[in-house]
Amino acid sequence: MQKHVGIEPFTPITPKAKISADEHGGRAKCLQRLIRLGMPVPPTVALSFQTVKAIATGQGLDVPAIMKALGPDGLLSVRPSSLDPDWGGPGAVLNIGMNAERHGELAARLGQQAADRIYADFVQGYAVNVARLDPEMFEIDKHQPASSIPKLLETFAEETDETFPTDAADQLMAVLRSMARAWEGTTARLLREARGAPADAGLGLVIQRMVFGVGPGVSGSGVVQFADAQSGARTTLGRFMAQAQGREALNGEAVPFSGPAPSLESIAPEIHSALILWGEVSREKLREEMQTEFTIENNVLHILDSVRIPRSSRAALTIAVSLAEDGIITHDEAVMRISPGSIPELLHPQIDRREKRDLFARGIAASPGAAVGKVVFSSAEAQASAARGEPCILVRRETSSEDIRGMNAAAGVLTEKGGMTSHAAVIARGLGLPCVVGTSGLTIDVRDKVMIDQNGSKVQAGDTITIDGTSGEILLGAAAMLEPILDGSFRTLLDWADASRDIGIRANADTPIDAQVARSFGAEGIGLCRTEHMFFDEDRLTVMREMIFADQAEDRKAVLERLLPMQREDFMRLFNIMDGYSVCIRLFDPPLHEFLPTDRSEIRALADALDLPVSEVVRRAEALSEYNPMLGMRGVRLGIVVPEIYDMQARAIFEATARVVNQGKTVVPEIMIPLVSANREVEIVKLRVDAVAAEVSARTGTNFDYRLGVMVETPRAALRAGEIAEHSSFLSFGTNDLTQMTYGLSRDDAGRFMSTYVSKQVYAEDPFTTLDEKGVGELLTIGAERGRASNPGLMLSICGEHGGNPESIDFCRRCHFDYVSCSPYRVPAARLAAAQFAIRDRVAGKDLPHI
Ligand code: PEP
Ligand code: MG
Repeated sequence: MQKHVGIEPFTPITPKAKISADEHGGRAKCLQRLIRLGMPVPPTVALSFQTVKAIATGQGLDVPAIMKALGPDGLLSVRPSSLDPDWGGPGAVLNIGMNAERHGELAARLGQQAADRIYADFVQGYAVNVARLDPEMFEIDKHQPASSIPKLLETFAEETDETFPTDAADQLMAVLRSMARAWEGTTARLLREARGAPADAGLGLVIQRMVFGVGPGVSGSGVVQFADAQSGARTTLGRFMAQAQGREALNGEAVPFSGPAPSLESIAPEIHSALILWGEVSREKLREEMQTEFTIENNVLHILDSVRIPRSSRAALTIAVSLAEDGIITHDEAVMRISPGSIPELLHPQIDRREKRDLFARGIAASPGAAVGKVVFSSAEAQASAARGEPCILVRRETSSEDIRGMNAAAGVLTEKGGMTSHAAVIARGLGLPCVVGTSGLTIDVRDKVMIDQNGSKVQAGDTITIDGTSGEILLGAAAMLEPILDGSFRTLLDWADASRDIGIRANADTPIDAQVARSFGAEGIGLCRTEHMFFDEDRLTVMREMIFADQAEDRKAVLERLLPMQREDFMRLFNIMDGYSVCIRLFDPPLHEFLPTDRSEIRALADALDLPVSEVVRRAEALSEYNPMLGMRGVRLGIVVPEIYDMQARAIFEATARVVNQGKTVVPEIMIPLVSANREVEIVKLRVDAVAAEVSARTGTNFDYRLGVMVETPRAALRAGEIAEHSSFLSFGTNDLTQMTYGLSRDDAGRFMSTYVSKQVYAEDPFTTLDEKGVGELLTIGAERGRASNPGLMLSICGEHGGNPESIDFCRRCHFDYVSCSPYRVPAARLAAAQFAIRDRVAGKDLPHI
């Protein structure tokens, strides 16, 4: 006796039936909408997520009742229906119920040739998709399908030790069970989770009575859509294939949908017009660009299914903006439809083809965009590399489901084997990851961690390469890149996002190029300029080293005088680019030894420059080394002990300000003191900075404003924010160091064990990526509260890496921070995510909740 599930086992899809996307999936809901719009959809029933889950665990179902509801003599199709079609799912199975008896009936109705095709196709589809037998053993002679049938049935019996099932109810049950179990499989699960599905995402199924695209009159099947899946541009695209079933028209020798003969328009103009009309109706009423699957049976049109056009991230954006511009959806809805996670894909830099490129090999361009990274040969190494914040290219002979996490962590993927639909290619496109597959003439040896081209040239683990998923090229080294730009619809969407956003977005930018990118991506100023990066340029490094080695304050000052004009120039360029926006400049932060030479030739060059013996240079460098430099003499500690550096920086900032102000530009520099742990540190630095400002203002005869603030990076600074805020215009939480110090976890070494910690759920997530709201977050709320209590006008922000993470942005909104600051490339996604949280709260009728 079959055990039946104790819930409503199936729901016929009628205009009034209780069908919801949350219980039956998007496809079932969409079919109901089509039926409500009066479209000619064949009889269909829906199985809920709960029912399908029960089937996957081995429970039976009253299959005869379903068959009765759909008309007992018909053949059936089953299609997947998950909440979001982008999560994938098992492929459709058609013509269920086919057996020798039906074969005879169909031959009389549709003709022998058509009946033979249906029978052969069904046995093949069942063997491969349901019984999971090798496709190569089930090939069909398309011209003489009748001759293939006995062989197909025989091979099935040989391979399974069972005769091919003839009972329609048995066939249907087996199909349902196989689709339900496929959804539970590891590959399917990892793939959908990578596309944003929750771990417990359910699968619904729709069972539909078949209509036949084979037989007399105009018969055939096709698909049509009214927007391009890659670009999102509005255009009629479709194909029709006479005497065909299912989605054959997508692959086979179909004729175009519109246009001169041969096309569906020329074969059946009325049906063509009806489909165009349905297309317009569904765009307006379903508020989406749909891809519609239709079948014409003996001159009669049937609409089998309609799904959101599977689309690239770029197309998703163009479509959302176009629907909103046509008044079909609101601006807010368009903003909510685009996942911030899809934005980086649109921002992939492209290789600059004007520059010289060092070609190593070529493959198939499987997923667009270019990526630079160090070569790794395993997914574990890719994850470790991501944890260290180092971009890598995952190189494999081919990929399988175990590699999905590694691919997710990599900047790009390269496989020796495979084509456009290989695992690596499909997953990479799903993840928006540049990918090259099927590299001709390249041998990848994963064990020895090397890839070798035809001439014997080698690339080893750790070497930097560039892959171009748009052209298929693999280049040695880091190729010159062109910055991406925001095009029309991207800009429009982000403008709409800005209209809803309730927190500012700035960028962390150290150089004029960073600042330019930040502005072009819509950053409202610089939230962190790490000035030490300005000292690593070759012409400055030697001067910097001379300064570090100077014995006396006076000597140090003299050397710093040489750095001053360079710094002033840096700041003037930033102020000019950021005209009218705030620029927050952090005073010098790293330990000095980071600037010292390590290899012999550099030490000798420095000895020459200083006119000192090599041994003396080595001795002084050793004297500067620290056991624990991250907790040593860096940040404001250096500013207190060697005040000449901050004096020089303050002078450079104010002189640049005076010059730019005199050129008619608007600039109010913000000066930020790093690694503060005691209020007295702020008092001492403030005194000197204010004195420099007064001196520059008097000397240049220029009035300018500036703000002095503190970077909260130590737990003590957060706890003492009340007194610190009395001397500060702003507090900016440097959550990289603050996380490091709160956890006692080294930023530089945690990558070694972070993946174990996360996989064992010791930490729910890597706290360097997603702000730890409970611990570090509490320090933020304490700091914000105490700071605001003593200085109500205090500006608050975050400038650690977390500033670009959507959940962390939401946390900062809820703390009523003024802005978040993140790297320039994360600015567009941050603008979008911030707007989505604001819209979400507004729709829920909430004022901004306070933490
Ligand atoms: C921080 O510590 O959060 C920060 C932004 O500074 P850095 O990463 O330069 O230490
Ligand atoms: Mg820091």
